Amino acid sequence: MTHPTFSNLRIDSDRLLGRLMSLGQDGALEGGGVCRLALSDKDKLGRDRVVDWMKELGLRVTIDKIGNLMGFLPGREDLSPVVLGSHIDTVATGGLYDGNLGVLAGLEVISVLKDSGFVPLRPIVVAAFTNEEGARFAPDMLGSAVDRGSLDLETALAIKDSDGFVIAEELARIGYAGEAEPGHIDPYCFFELHVEQGPVLEEEGEQIGAVTGVQGISWTEYVIEGISNHAGTTPMRLRHDAGFAAASVAVAARKVAEEIGDGQVVTVGVNELNPNLVNVIARSARLTVDMRNIDEQKLQQAEKRLAEEIAAICKAEGVRYTSRTLARFEPVMFDQNMVDLIADVAMEQGRSVRCMSSGAGHDAQMFAPVCPTAMVFVPSQGGISHNIEEYTSPEDIKAGANVLLQAALTKAEEK
Ligand SMILES: [Zn+2]
Repeated sequence: MTHPTFSNLRIDSDRLLGRLMSLGQDGALEGGGVCRLALSDKDKLGRDRVVDWMKELGLRVTIDKIGNLMGFLPGREDLSPVVLGSHIDTVATGGLYDGNLGVLAGLEVISVLKDSGFVPLRPIVVAAFTNEEGARFAPDMLGSAVDRGSLDLETALAIKDSDGFVIAEELARIGYAGEAEPGHIDPYCFFELHVEQGPVLEEEGEQIGAVTGVQGISWTEYVIEGISNHAGTTPMRLRHDAGFAAASVAVAARKVAEEIGDGQVVTVGVNELNPNLVNVIARSARLTVDMRNIDEQKLQQAEKRLAEEIAAICKAEGVRYTSRTLARFEPVMFDQNMVDLIADVAMEQGRSVRCMSSGAGHDAQMFAPVCPTAMVFVPSQGGISHNIEEYTSPEDIKAGANVLLQAALTKAEEK
């Protein structure tokens, strides 16, 4: 399946790990981990380091108006490029791998090509997007959203952090308010190598995740109002018990998840009663329902079924309720051929593969609507991320980067 002229190429894991550790010095925290909030002084240091590496590798570097960094390697022909992207901003207590691995594995792919002298048919672009984490500026995935046009540039530039600092001014201050128009590159396809940030691969003993998509999320808060009364003197038939209704909703939520099946998950994570006393029928209850599914139709079906259940429960108990949407994101499906390619390459390299969806958001999902897109996951030790303890073994990093290399070159040889 792979091309004879590049199928024997392999990444240099020492070089890749060396760059990961070097980048981890910018914003290094005591005890490990890194704080490199978007557009901070530490982010500038990290960006400078990545730009230096891009230039050393002979890439043409562009910075766009929202500060996205792109390093461009020409191909044998002037076709649309294969893009390898992720982010180098972190949360305040971040690890060395989240995002950074995807960008630096992209640079490692370029390093391998430079060493071997192999020039792919299509250009290759390595991209680092601004403010993926959303830890300093909301929304998250901001740079990739502007690049793909799902967030307007002017709106994004005017966004402030919690201290009132504006993106446009912070970009200028750190020297990354670029000239290029966001979206100036028209990608042929998009790859993102990322740490899983969850426990599945490690628990299942698998080395590579071929990511099929990103789950849709639906968060709703319900407030149920009943009548508070004496626990001893109020006959059961005369009760309007908000606590009973809330408990019934939690049971119904589990039933809905089981009915829909097929990866539907439902969680009632908050269930607070008022007054919350041993001998008083609860007057009110506040609960939240978190529903997730990779399939939008199924997610909508789950939302509708639960709404019906809640209406019936509250009617039967004679209590009133209100609902409020806290978050709603549609699922994103990645390109099946790209997912298959990642799985095939991984198996050819003797790696065990699991097809899985992502529970977290990533820059890749901004590209999925516009070009064939997929992600490669590598295991996160203990499923820990957004934490200074975040760790992925050198062996797993090497395996993931080699899958990225071969999958990217396979696409880069397509006419
Ligand atoms: Zn990330």
